[in-house]
Amino acid sequence: MRRQRLKRDREFAGLRILAQDGSRDGHQLDDFLDKNHVPHRLIDFQSEYGRVLCERLHLASRDLPALVTASGTPLRRPSLREVARIAGLLRPLAREEESEITCDLAIVGAGPAGLAAAVYAASEGLKTVVLESYAPGGQAGSSSLIENFFGFPTGISGGELTYGAQLQAYRFGAKFSTPAQALSLAFTDGEHRASLQIEGCNATLLAKCVIIATGADYHRLEAEGRESFEGSGVYYAATVREGQLCRGSTVIVAGGGNSAGQAAMFLSEGAQKVLLVIRGEGLAKSMSTYLSRRVEAKENIEILAHTEIRKMMGGKVLEAVELENTKTHERRTVQTPAVFSMVGAKPCTAWLPLEIERDEKGFIKTGHAVVDAPAWKGISRLPGPLETSCPGIFAAGDVRSGSVKRCAAAVGEGGMAVEGVHEVLKTYA
Ligand SMILES: Cc1cc2nc3c(=O)[nH]c(=O)nc-3n(C[C@H](O)[C@H](O)[C@H](O)COP(=O)(O)OP(=O)(O)OC[C@H]3O[C@@H](n4cnc5c(N)ncnc54)[C@H](O)[C@@H]3O)c2cc1C
Repeated sequence: MRRQRLKRDREFAGLRILAQDGSRDGHQLDDFLDKNHVPHRLIDFQSEYGRVLCERLHLASRDLPALVTASGTPLRRPSLREVARIAGLLRPLAREEESEITCDLAIVGAGPAGLAAAVYAASEGLKTVVLESYAPGGQAGSSSLIENFFGFPTGISGGELTYGAQLQAYRFGAKFSTPAQALSLAFTDGEHRASLQIEGCNATLLAKCVIIATGADYHRLEAEGRESFEGSGVYYAATVREGQLCRGSTVIVAGGGNSAGQAAMFLSEGAQKVLLVIRGEGLAKSMSTYLSRRVEAKENIEILAHTEIRKMMGGKVLEAVELENTKTHERRTVQTPAVFSMVGAKPCTAWLPLEIERDEKGFIKTGHAVVDAPAWKGISRLPGPLETSCPGIFAAGDVRSGSVKRCAAAVGEGGMAVEGVHEVLKTYA
């Protein structure tokens, strides 16, 4: 609550980011501190205050973005790790002389699934370490209003929801350090069977069990200005809420797969017109026939083949996009409040060893799907519903094959995975 108050206080002179207006690096520092709930101010170096600060601290434009601490010390072009250190986010997981850190449970990823797991595990007395590569909250942290989360009839911002969970886990004793990216997972003999290497940490993390909750990264559209409209015009799901937002308007759906087809059909019920933007010639190769026929037959859906979104424009919310026909290079501007990006999601599993079996799209298999995995041969119990092809290693949330890609589902799976961890730990007793 203190941080919230400081965030609102315009005169607050804690951390200041001095950057060129609209610069990408400045925006990244701002985004990093914002997603990690660190009160700070972003100052345009060409503003009156910005010019005074630059002069006083001897900062030239080549030094920007700069982070200025409360005591007035400037850090020129700092890395995210340096910013995290100054902001107190980078907490040492090990003492300098330690080469190993041990815990009962390592949770990788602090989106809704990882955070829920951390709350339950830490509150039930497990020595828990949470690794997060950017900012706790995950995808949910970038959603301005989650309206379908149980218990919040007027909706809740994803940041608020997940920050509450982070504080709760912290209060129960879960150890966090941000940023702390898990680079690799290997197996050892003995009680602490999993060994994790962490970016920027010299010590190895040894865990009795691991919950992988690294989620998925939606492929982002490479259109100029897209970042400014995440959650205020650029959406990754077409639910009733989004449908209501664009009732009566022209909306754009980008993508040629089934999810794009379903979104286009759903949105066409309320929108005046749906423009389905696809890179290729047609839908035949990428969409199921039953669906592509319905899409093609729908009067208010127009398919724009060989088309890409080049630019997104507006003020606080999206107002228009620029489309380009990649064959003729002709460009046109369309007034629209919403772009639905349905160009696929990639699970964050590249860092895992081959022993953790995945489906054809890279999502982690669990439960029934891994009973025949070599590591389960000779083990008297069956894999738990969220247990992977390696006993004691669990997957929860969006990263799991077959999971429902929703916040509440991720939270449920996080809690459920902890139940599985207890089952495994019982076998140690
Ligand atoms: C813009 C947007 C709006 C959404 N709106 C809604 C909504 O209204 N309702 C709803 O139910 N769902 C919504 N969703 C979907 C919902 O947010 C996801 O289903 C949910 O966040 C999945 O949670 P998760 O914990 O499984 O994964 P994620 O939220 O993806 O979290 C995974 C975390 O793991 C971290 N990570 C990845 N790799 C590593 C690594 N190697 N080491 C350490 N950390 C790592 C990432 O940084 C991330 O923080 C929305 C998604 C987006 C993008």
